[in-house]
Amino acid sequence: MREVLLHDTLSGKLQPLRPRDPGQVGVYACGPTVYSRIHVGNARPFVVFSLLKRFLEREGYAVNLVVNVTDVNDKIYDAARAQGRPSAELAAEMAALYRADTDELGLGRPDHEPLASETIGPIVDYIATLIERGHAYAVDGDVYFRVRSDGRYGSLSHRRLENMDQGEGALSPAHPDRKEDPLDFALWKAHKEGEDTCWPAPWGEGRPGWHIECSAMAEQLLGVGFDIHGGGSDLIFPHHENEAAQTRAARGSELARLWMHNGMIQFTGEKMAKSVGNIALLHEVIAANGPQAVVMYLASGHYRQPLAFSPSELADAERRVSRIRDALRRLQPGAPSPPDMVHHRDAFFDALANDFNTPAALASLFEWVREANRRGGGVGDADLREMLAVLGLGELTPLEAVGDVAATDPEAVALLERRQQARGARDFEEADRIREELRGRGWDIRDSPEGPELVPAQTP
Ligand SMILES: [Zn+2]
Repeated sequence: MREVLLHDTLSGKLQPLRPRDPGQVGVYACGPTVYSRIHVGNARPFVVFSLLKRFLEREGYAVNLVVNVTDVNDKIYDAARAQGRPSAELAAEMAALYRADTDELGLGRPDHEPLASETIGPIVDYIATLIERGHAYAVDGDVYFRVRSDGRYGSLSHRRLENMDQGEGALSPAHPDRKEDPLDFALWKAHKEGEDTCWPAPWGEGRPGWHIECSAMAEQLLGVGFDIHGGGSDLIFPHHENEAAQTRAARGSELARLWMHNGMIQFTGEKMAKSVGNIALLHEVIAANGPQAVVMYLASGHYRQPLAFSPSELADAERRVSRIRDALRRLQPGAPSPPDMVHHRDAFFDALANDFNTPAALASLFEWVREANRRGGGVGDADLREMLAVLGLGELTPLEAVGDVAATDPEAVALLERRQQARGARDFEEADRIREELRGRGWDIRDSPEGPELVPAQTP
């Protein structure tokens, strides 16, 4: 078994993975708040942690991956109110669409996908413990966490207390002095006019705050002190700092052994949040580029780095997928690969073991492909298939040679020409639209040294 190193946000260093229970790795990654269809940025943690699970399983670990769904939240109330719908109905619909959209990636499901609305009992118990231990207090039905009662507060995000803002300024504008200290954050929010769901609790009916949901759900499924807590780097503060503080305060020990954070997707240079209005919905990006290209795109950057999103990045990813499919056409299916090429496969897995470096791993995979192409026909595909399986691309099929497309579907050839003109004019929207139209007719576009050509579409 290789030693697996991962960057830990808490220590700021690469740490060897040393599971709490030998051979078993528990991973909790914060999932979406379901108030609209998810965008490509939301898919990044889903893909990073799904692929990490595949890699660790390949290395011989039993992995338990938990990705929660936040289905009670201010954003959901606001979106439902704007649409004149019950918030629970909107959340259920968006949770189902989130599952459908991520299913299309072809990476399977996490082992557990708990809902906040189904974890209320444990959340209320958790808050009661925090009050009993003096780490929380109730005010008019709200409950707040006493931040200064946690001596290690700020250790995860490496911030000083005076530089912290919980972002709850607008929580109760009518009662600015409700908190003992502006640093404190809400564990429970008393029921307010206009909110159509609430649950009973000893300090009054209401609903949980966001941070306590995750401490409770993670502990329910993985226990305290599980191996890897993950999520986007935008969650380090306040969300993960608060999760960590709650667990220390209630249980006297750390929630997770290692904290792993992925960088943001950047759309024209800005963090891609739905509020910015730069929306590239996952299901639309998959429809336009195919699921394998989306996974390839997300694996093309190191998980800790920001990743630029643009039509040309997606087109690059599609080309890389095509190169693999093209190589598969000449490989011997199911046959062992030449032993003198195994160093490329080993380098692929070594790169993943070194802080899950997917771009370095992909470089080794393409070294393997280049070498196989150089050797001509008949190289066994076993090593390549092993690498592809870890990337969730194990189902890639070889490109098929097609005869004269012009004879069977002349209109498709005309569309391809129009697409080239649109790309030449940098009208990527039109180019994408034509690509989709071609896919509807059963054709994918492949770039070859002689220019783009049409190949039979691969169904996801
Ligand atoms: Zn969370």
